[in-house]
Amino acid sequence: MKNRIDSSRQKTPWDNNSKNNVLQEFIKCKYKDNYRIKHPKLSETNEAELLNSIEIKECRYCDSEHIRKRGFTKNNVQRYYCNDCKRYFSPTTGTIFEGHKISITEWIEYLLDIFNYGSTNLTSKVNKNSMNTSTYWLQKVFILLEKYRENLVFKGTVYLDEMFYSVIKKDIDTKDGKKLRGISHNKYCIGICYDKRNIIAIVECFGKPTTEITYNNFYKSNRTWFTINS
Ligand SMILES: [Zn+2]
Repeated sequence: MKNRIDSSRQKTPWDNNSKNNVLQEFIKCKYKDNYRIKHPKLSETNEAELLNSIEIKECRYCDSEHIRKRGFTKNNVQRYYCNDCKRYFSPTTGTIFEGHKISITEWIEYLLDIFNYGSTNLTSKVNKNSMNTSTYWLQKVFILLEKYRENLVFKGTVYLDEMFYSVIKKDIDTKDGKKLRGISHNKYCIGICYDKRNIIAIVECFGKPTTEITYNNFYKSNRTWFTINS
């Protein structure tokens, strides 16, 4: 039995048919064009131009300013060398796009879909990827995010804010059959921390957090992301 999950979305029912009618041929060609637009080759996206326009002043590994340009990657992206930690890096080092084989355009499209709560099934269809690819990408996003926060320490002026999102419908608590008003425990509190370079968002609690909750979330419990001047 054919595994539908692994099916490529590149194919149409008329690919190997030599007797397509005009409409079938038209749909086939337009679908293939669309597929190519969704999956551009790295060399066709002007990505190197975009990445090389980013001004880099510090080493992506140790923040040293003793860096210099040294050669290009195979995709024509500027490479840098750090005189202090003796490592090479590029504008994508330490970002979600590091070591990417698909274009940034494709990644952005995919990320916009999942950050807008698109299901794996939907993003697979929209981006014309097999379900396996979409599932793999989602796992990759989580692995990257986990790695991103591993050694994260915020520096300088740190901004901290909160956003609230409703819990899913079945978890909504009511009082006398009515929804609770304002920032109740029916809302997740997402704390967002930013220092003009790094950003992290974590689920703090349900409802409005106290200073203690925020402090414990961002400073204590294995998450010493910044130092506090007391
Ligand atoms: Zn360095």
